[in-house]
Amino acid sequence: MTTLFISDLHLEESRPDITEAFLVFLDEKASGKEQLFILGDFFEAWIGDDERTPLQEQVATALRTVSESGTEVFLMHGNRDFLIGEDFCNRAGATLLDDPTVVDLYGTPTLLMHGDSLCTADVEYQKFRANMRNPQWQQMILQRPLKDRQQMARQLREISMAKNQGKEEFIMDVTPEEVVKEMETHGVQRLIHGHTHRPAVHELMASGERAKRIVLGDWDKNVWWLEVRSGEEPVLQKQPL
Ligand code: MN
Repeated sequence: MTTLFISDLHLEESRPDITEAFLVFLDEKASGKEQLFILGDFFEAWIGDDERTPLQEQVATALRTVSESGTEVFLMHGNRDFLIGEDFCNRAGATLLDDPTVVDLYGTPTLLMHGDSLCTADVEYQKFRANMRNPQWQQMILQRPLKDRQQMARQLREISMAKNQGKEEFIMDVTPEEVVKEMETHGVQRLIHGHTHRPAVHELMASGERAKRIVLGDWDKNVWWLEVRSGEEPVLQKQPL
């Protein structure tokens, strides 16, 4: 029994190599496994399930194939693809997960997050996040013509790139106290998240006991995944893209 975790693929038309690596990953790694969790920023951008680009359709079809072959597929929103909706998930045979969600991984309660909500030192971003996650705002945006949304996405991306350039390293990472707080709130000793593009396994203390924070890697240069087998410690794995 094996469960796989991936995140931060940032799939987009300009990176066909990542899409190809993902299709191979589904075929060679995910297929036949019990569960596959995608913890956000699966796509570089998402402006509504009605866009249906060839890339999106190709990915949905590939995911559905794996899902129909018996691997349960779960999808969590990231900060780039938080507008992914039930429509896409249905096409992909995937179940949309809340951020955060606690799952039982072969007897170990495990907290799953994208990770952006842990970066509390970035006050400006957290404000932006709160606005973007407002359901009324999302409804309003999704009702606008596709062309408007495409232009808006381009602008947001430029603003975000310009802002992040001036930010200190520590601001872009998780706040250690926030990690402990979240783990204690949810009563877990294991957390898996992505977002920071700093793949690692961190040991820490939560609720007075040893705990682990596992950070998934992004797919810019390597294919990163976490493999969790029943009765074994999770193993973070990578392969050149
Ligand atoms: Mn992210």
